[in-house]
Amino acid sequence: MKQPVVIVGAGLAGLSLSIELARLGVPVIVLEKDQFPRQKVCGEYISRESESYLNWLGVETQSLPHIDTLVLTSMGGRQARLSLPRGGFGLSRWTMDHRLAQIAQEKGVDIRFGTTVRAIEGNVVHTLRSGAVQASFVIAAYGRSNRLSGIRIPTGSGAFVGVKYHVSSAAPSDTIEMHVFRGGYCGFSKVEGEKYCLCYLANAAPLKALGGNLDDFERMHLFQNPHLKERFSEVKLLGDRVTTSQFHFSTYGGVYQDQLLLGDASGFIPPITGNGMSLALRSGAQLAPILAEAWLGKRSRESLYRAQGEYVNLYLRSRIRKGVFLQKLLLRQNVFSDALLFGALRLIPAVGRHLAMSAVGDDISAKN
Ligand SMILES: Cc1cc2nc3c(=O)[nH]c(=O)nc-3n(C[C@H](O)[C@H](O)[C@H](O)COP(=O)(O)OP(=O)(O)OC[C@H]3O[C@@H](n4cnc5c(N)ncnc54)[C@H](O)[C@@H]3O)c2cc1C
Repeated sequence: MKQPVVIVGAGLAGLSLSIELARLGVPVIVLEKDQFPRQKVCGEYISRESESYLNWLGVETQSLPHIDTLVLTSMGGRQARLSLPRGGFGLSRWTMDHRLAQIAQEKGVDIRFGTTVRAIEGNVVHTLRSGAVQASFVIAAYGRSNRLSGIRIPTGSGAFVGVKYHVSSAAPSDTIEMHVFRGGYCGFSKVEGEKYCLCYLANAAPLKALGGNLDDFERMHLFQNPHLKERFSEVKLLGDRVTTSQFHFSTYGGVYQDQLLLGDASGFIPPITGNGMSLALRSGAQLAPILAEAWLGKRSRESLYRAQGEYVNLYLRSRIRKGVFLQKLLLRQNVFSDALLFGALRLIPAVGRHLAMSAVGDDISAKN
């Protein structure tokens, strides 16, 4: 009997792949270190390119807040309102990851929650407490910054932290706000129910200088942007603050030591684009049919690895580059560049449309 495909990580990449493989009749085991549902640092704004694919996977999106306007603000208090040609919608990771895991289980995927993978050797996956699992193929869907990938994330001046809150607010549900402050930016938009997501990415060095005190950091750095200060004073916290660190905006290739890299594990796009989740789902959608062929013996391992490498080099790399460009454009704030950018956005709507369109991709489609 053939061994199952083993996926490390039940994030969006791992779960979408597992559902597609199960539909194609391929046995799948997913090893996930956390118990679900769980909180995750994420802006929770999903670009429209994912919507029909999520519906196809079984996630309902009709009742969710649909977002078609971006309000961008700067530290100097400038503001620009842009309509988003493709837009997106809001859904918390608590709900979405849990729903996808349920769908996968209904399709027969064996998800082992609370199972941390400590090492991968060829087709053998070693867990911390549950022994080793034999695989036909090992899929690395363990997210960005994982020591299993052997990738070292720079910790110097380029290091960032991410922080998320769920809050209640009276803000409009069709708008995403992006507030820029020195060394970072904060997104704010509605998700399901009465919840809003307030999530920021910030350079870690000034936070470190404050001994890691996030309250002081927010007061001294985020509140320099008057719009953001106002937003923080208007909202009411609904739960605990969640934090993360270790960012590196780059691609890592499609294959590492016989592991097929998926989602953030193959490359991480700056959150400013609101596209990381879509790219994670897309990577699952593009790998599923060719992996199923390889599992059935209709495609060689070499051809599978080549196709995965091409996806990363020809598609993912270019999207991440565009995201890095947008992030640099926003973070390079001084009086001059600020006036130039916000002036152009206000006076020439095509500039905003072009920037917004450069960040998104075509609709994801299931290929099987
Ligand atoms: C601050 C911030 C804001 C963001 N905002 C947005 C946004 O608004 N819109 C958007 O589209 N994207 C956003 N993103 C990006 C998005 O969150 C990621 O791109 C997406 O989560 C990638 O999915 P993934 O499945 O590749 O990885 P993940 O979602 O990270 O899933 C990886 C899974 O692997 C598990 N795992 C890790 N190591 C192990 C191990 N050793 N053993 C077992 N399991 C393991 C983890 O627990 C996790 O469940 C944001 C990211 C950050 C940091």
